This record gives sequence, C-alpha cells and structure tokens, in this order.
Amino acid sequence: MNKKQKKMLIRILLAACLMIAMNFIPVTGMLRFALYLVPYLIIGYDILIKAWKGIKNRQVFDESFLMAVATIGAMALAVSRDGDYTEAIAVMLFYQIGEWFQSYAVGKSRRNISELMDIRPDYANVEQDGSLVQVDPDEVEIGSVIVVQPGEKVPIDGVVAEGSSSLNTSALTGESVPRNIGAGEEVISGCINMTGVLKIRTTKEFGESTVSRILDLVENASSRKSKSENFISKFARVYTPLVCCSALALAFLPPLVRMFMLGLPADFGDWIYRALTFLVISCPCALVVSIPLSFFAGIGGAGNAGVLVKGSNYLETMSRTRCVVFDKTGTLTEGVFEVNAVHHNEMEQEKLLEYAALAESASSHPISKSLQQAYGKPIDRTRVSDIQEISGNGVTARVDGHMVAAGNGKLMKRLQVEYKDCHHTGTIVHMVIDGVYAGHIVISDRIKSHAKEAVAALKSAGVNRTVMLTGDTDAVARQVAAELGIDEVYSELLPEGKVQKVEELLEKKNEKEKLAFVGDGINDAPVLSRADIGIAMGAMGSDAAIEAADVVLMDDDPLKIAKAVRISRKCLRIVYENIWFAIGIKAICLLLGALGIANMWLAVFADVGVMILAVLNAIRALFVKKL
Ligand code: ADP
Ligand code: MG
Repeated sequence: MNKKQKKMLIRILLAACLMIAMNFIPVTGMLRFALYLVPYLIIGYDILIKAWKGIKNRQVFDESFLMAVATIGAMALAVSRDGDYTEAIAVMLFYQIGEWFQSYAVGKSRRNISELMDIRPDYANVEQDGSLVQVDPDEVEIGSVIVVQPGEKVPIDGVVAEGSSSLNTSALTGESVPRNIGAGEEVISGCINMTGVLKIRTTKEFGESTVSRILDLVENASSRKSKSENFISKFARVYTPLVCCSALALAFLPPLVRMFMLGLPADFGDWIYRALTFLVISCPCALVVSIPLSFFAGIGGAGNAGVLVKGSNYLETMSRTRCVVFDKTGTLTEGVFEVNAVHHNEMEQEKLLEYAALAESASSHPISKSLQQAYGKPIDRTRVSDIQEISGNGVTARVDGHMVAAGNGKLMKRLQVEYKDCHHTGTIVHMVIDGVYAGHIVISDRIKSHAKEAVAALKSAGVNRTVMLTGDTDAVARQVAAELGIDEVYSELLPEGKVQKVEELLEKKNEKEKLAFVGDGINDAPVLSRADIGIAMGAMGSDAAIEAADVVLMDDDPLKIAKAVRISRKCLRIVYENIWFAIGIKAICLLLGALGIANMWLAVFADVGVMILAVLNAIRALFVKKL
C-alpha cells in the first residue's frame, strides 16, 4: 500500500464510522443534515472537486460527474423529506472503496510485472587497481572486463573470459533449469549468476544489451492499445451522456405525464430517486477499469513465461491465430549445422573448409557460423576483403587474393559455374575458387527437440494450418516437414519469395482468422512485419528480429508458440467475460431501477460490486499454467 492508498483507507473508515454513529444521534431538520454532511464530505470531497473541474474543462460526462450528481441529488431529496442520508453517503463510500481496490489491484499487478521482469541491474563491477569498483552499467565500454559474483545479475551482454558457473535465466526465459557456462561462451544480461565468479568481456553497451532492450519493450507495451480497449473508451464517451439524458428523462417525463395527462399526483421525489439510482447503476467503471487491466495482466503473465508481447493489440490478434507459418532454419531446427562430408574437392578438405570459413567470416547466418565452428581456428579477418552476402544464396569474398564463393545451387547459376549435385540429403554449400568449381561441403542441421511437440501443441490450441517456408532445398524441406507433421511446405525461396508466399496465404484466408509467422529474424525480418502477427525466435540473438516482431520468444523453444497462443486466448476470454458480465448485470439493474424496484444499495452493488469482481477476474490473466 502506498501513502495515497493509506490515506484513502483512513478516510473510508472514518466516514463509515461517522455515518453509522449519526444514526444514534436524535436530531432532526437542518442540524441532522449538517451532521451527515461531515462524513459525506470526508469521503467525497475529491470526487466533487473532480466533477467540478470536469465541468469547468467541458469534459462533463465522466464517472466523478455521475457520482457527484447522484449523491448530491440523493442528499437533496433526503433534505426535502427529512429522510435517510445514509444512502447518499453509502454510494460515495462504496464508490471510493471500489476506487481504492482498483488502485491497489493495478499497483499490485504492475509491481508483479516489474518483479517478474526484475532484471534491471543497478551496477557493474569493474576491476581497478586490484579491487572491485561498482560503476553505472551505462559507463562500461564495449570490450571491458566486468566481474559478476554469485548472486549478482549479469548487467551487460558479453563473453565469459574467465571462470565457470551456472546461470539462472528464469527471469528472461521462464525456464527454471539453470544453464551451465564456461569460458568462451556468450552470456546475456538479465541472468543471475548462481555459483562461480565470472569475468565477462562485454560485447555490447548497456543500452544495446538484452536487458535494456527487453525493458524498453515492456515499458512500451501498454501504450499499444487493443481494439477492445479503444472500443471501451469510445463506448464510455457515447454511453455516459446517453445515460445522463435518460436519467433526466426518467426524472421528469413520467411525473409530467402523470400530472397533465393522467391527472395523478406527480410524485417528483420518487421519480428523481429512480433517476438517481439509474445514474449510479450505469457508471461504466467496471469496463473502463477491468479491460485494460486484463490486457496488462495478460502481458505480464506472458512475460513471466518468457513470451514478450509488444502490446495489447498483438495479444488480441494472436488469440485469433488459425494459421502458423514457420521459417525452417533456426526456428524449427537448431540452426547449428554439422559438416557431414566434403565431396568433389580439388584441394585438401581442410583447406576448402578454411576458405569457406574465411569467406563467411562476416555473415550472421547459421550456416556461416557453423562453417566457422567446423574450421575451429581463429579467423584472421585481414585475409578477407570484398565480402558480399547474397541472401538466400550465399556469400562471395576475396580471400588471400582469391575470389571465393560459397553458397547453394542458385548462387552457382548466378555465377554461371557448373556444379555437381549431391546424393546426400542435407544442405549443400558449393565452393567456387577463382571461378572454378572446387567441390561442396554437405552440412546438416538438427531438428529442435521440442519442434514436433510444438506443432502438435499448436494444433490442439486451435491452429488448423501449419506451413513451413525455407530457402533450403526441396529434399531437406520435405524431410523436415514430414518428420514434424507440418501440413504444407514451400522450399527454395528467396527472402522476397517468403514475403510473397505469406502475402498469398494472407489473401486466401478469411479476415477473422489471423496468420502468424515465426522466424529467427535472419533474413526474414520483412516477413515478420508483413504477417498479422510476427513471432521472433531467439531474442538471445538477432536484433532485427526483436525490432520487426510483435511477439518475442525469450528462448528458442518452439513450444512457447503454442503457449503464447494459449495465453492470448485466455486473456481475451477474460476480457469478454468481463464485458458480458458487466453489461449484463447493469442492464438488469437499470431495468429494475427504471421500474422503481431497485434502490441505491442495489445500485452500489451494480457499480462497485461488478467492478471488484471484474478486476479480480482480470487478475487471473496474470497467472499462466505451466504447459
Ligand atoms: P531458411 O529459409 O531455412 O531460414 P535462408 O533463407 O536463410 O534459409 O537461406 C536459404 C539457403 O540459402 C540456405 O539453405 C543456403 O543454401 C543458402 N545460404 C544463405 N546464406 C548462406 C550463407 N551465408 N552461406 C552459405 N549458404 C547460404
Ligand atoms: Mg532463416
């Protein structure tokens, strides 16, 4: 509880006690009114001020206005009848209890989210003259060595220079199994170091590190409004004036009709009371409060499970996903290729691999990383120049003065070099040196351990179409798709081809059903942004993916896709439950109010009670079942 909430609680208790105590004081007339005015003002002064300010700023129709009119009206009626003031005070009291509860709930879920995302490091340890000094992570330059002790957060992305330890990555990935790391391995910021002391050579600035990027995403997420949220704020804008007019009509039309047309007594007091009850019931706060809160909680829950959603609108779209399109390499497969064979080579195998690794030295494609790994020796970048990467084809570069090309059949055709096909199923990197075919390297990738389960999980989560797009050869593509149970495959696509395919799929499907594309961001960023919803794998790696995607999976586990869809469905279900529940109860109470059956007490329930229930329901979105 913060200070404001404490103060409010005191006001609520004070007003409630005074209100009850007044019932035992035997006074009448204006004195009684004056006494009751005290608890009324204690509990309601700020609402009255807000309503007044609203009128002055010409934004008349808001909740404070409704509450002010209703309670002032009820007080006035009570004065005229020397009747019961408790109702007017109670309406204000319960309204404030509702407000208090709401601010507590919002604060709590906000805190919950930032706790879940409690990854912001406060300092970095740097060694200076033999002792450790804590500095602002912003001040650490790329390439400096920082020391992370057990129990501390890794503040900046880097590579372990010394030491080994296990890392708790759960704040980032939702994964509770610790990850063991040793010298030479990459670590990302936001993990907690558990056992050993690590010396880390930073590879990024703090602002560019994983932690900062994630925090940016989370902080911006709530500013992207979903359709339901926009609908609610528009709804309130039309609804409140409408209700006010209806209340006016209810207060004056029936009595006038009675008086002039039926010749009955007008009963103004009764009808005004009904109109006031009507006003209290109709306050739209349950919707206005609970819907953004549901989305907020949904985003928080997803974040806790290692799924970053960039805005409520994406949560809404994702809940309608019916078709999921995958990129192959790095998404369904590990993207870590092993060299299986080298064929038709004119030179020594080692030498060919060396040329390949050097030519690939600047590429971030998984193939290139794997070739460099297979070569195994440090790469002297000064031996390489004129590097050109042709996406979906391969690379060309000058190595030790020789023109080297490494890539697939398409690249060979482009360079007009005869190449030898391979009888192995695998991804083939053909090599050309100084315009002469120099053989090919057969590499193969492993399917991710959860990929098959992930496809099945998506199907059971309501996705009825799965498609795989790849730049790889048809044989490899078919083999992978068959193994995973994917419905459709399109192979040998260039990055533009992928965009085109996704556009075709988008065109063919029905407007209400959404298409999600899942990729690793390496040369498929355009597709990520073209799809209804772009889901990026491996937030650990590609910056382009984080930029272009709407949803980022914090680790490379494809099972998280189904989880993300489930979370979004649950969140939207809660939103709709709240909308129907609130509107339903209010409609019934409004009818009862207009008929004169409902009194202020029921009205208060319809307003505050419904809101509290809706808020409690909204908070459910924060909790995500482990799949
Ligand atoms: P995917 O669709 O499976 O993610 P890409 O579109 O990234 O694959 O690449 C398609 C094909 O282009 C690869 O299978 C490979 O044959 C070739 N290729 C792309 N980049 C490179 C590279 N850096 N080195 C060698 N071959 C490459
Ligand atoms: Mg790819």
